[in-house]
Amino acid sequence: MDRLKIRSPSQRALALSLCGVVALSAACSDDGAVVAPADAAIAADTPMTTDVPHATDVPHATDASGHGDAAAPSCAMGDTVYRPTGAHWDYMDPSEWAMASPAYAMCTGMNQTPVDLPAMTAAETTPLTFNHYGMQALRLLNNGHTLQVNVPTTYGGTDPSVSYNGTTYYLLQFHAHTTSEHTIAGTSYPMEFHFVHATNATATAQYLVVGVMFNIGAESPVLRTMLAQDPGEECIRERLSDQVELGSLLPANRSFYHYSPGSLTTPPCTEGLNWFVLSEALTVGAEQVAEFGRVVHGRNNRPVQPLSGRMVTRYTAP
Ligand SMILES: [Zn+2]
Repeated sequence: MDRLKIRSPSQRALALSLCGVVALSAACSDDGAVVAPADAAIAADTPMTTDVPHATDVPHATDASGHGDAAAPSCAMGDTVYRPTGAHWDYMDPSEWAMASPAYAMCTGMNQTPVDLPAMTAAETTPLTFNHYGMQALRLLNNGHTLQVNVPTTYGGTDPSVSYNGTTYYLLQFHAHTTSEHTIAGTSYPMEFHFVHATNATATAQYLVVGVMFNIGAESPVLRTMLAQDPGEECIRERLSDQVELGSLLPANRSFYHYSPGSLTTPPCTEGLNWFVLSEALTVGAEQVAEFGRVVHGRNNRPVQPLSGRMVTRYTAP
């Protein structure tokens, strides 16, 4: 299958965006559509598009074909093989991503993430509200670039979400970077978590991502669980008896930096995302950062990109 195939209509860009951020329990077809996995246990939490499911792209524990020419990963009994789509990329030279595939052309766009968040910013008065950030069963993906926890959503009810300016965005997944991708007044942090939200499962969904910074200090219980259950590269582990506390990944103070538009920080670098970075940092253990670094082969942070005239605002929680 030609995984470099790209179609130019803008609707594909959003499909790719959905694919890029949701590709954890779902598979992505070569045109970027999210398709349902064969595993019925995770099918229910897969955001669907109207595209016809592409059976050959479905992750399957017994699938013998791998990504490109590489052999299929061998996942532990009970885990599921994750098959990445699109051209290979890594963190050796992020400035080359756009050259890796026509599908990654947006990586040289003008509204890219991450950015350096300036110390002096205009104030804004609209809060960001977190809803139902509680216990969550562990659905863990190691996609070769990060450890990512998938959060099933029905885009309603008591599913974890954030509300901003009258719109509710539902949590799809969260994952980690070391070192941080954003910097604040030029300062980077040992780790940054990203919480990816969407308004719905359609190709016209709006995306909102929240970044949380971490300094070295007390261990993070959630990261401890993620590292302990790492299924290995290109494997998915569902261990629903293991619960992670989403609220423990949020600082008490909800002051934030905000800019829009931003982008996915990994290929295809799709733009149009609403970005927030909370001002108050949490802590992770030094050994946790080191262990996560081994998982991602050193580091998994894209360097900061030019603001190119975008305004960063700052909300100060009362
Ligand atoms: Zn990220």
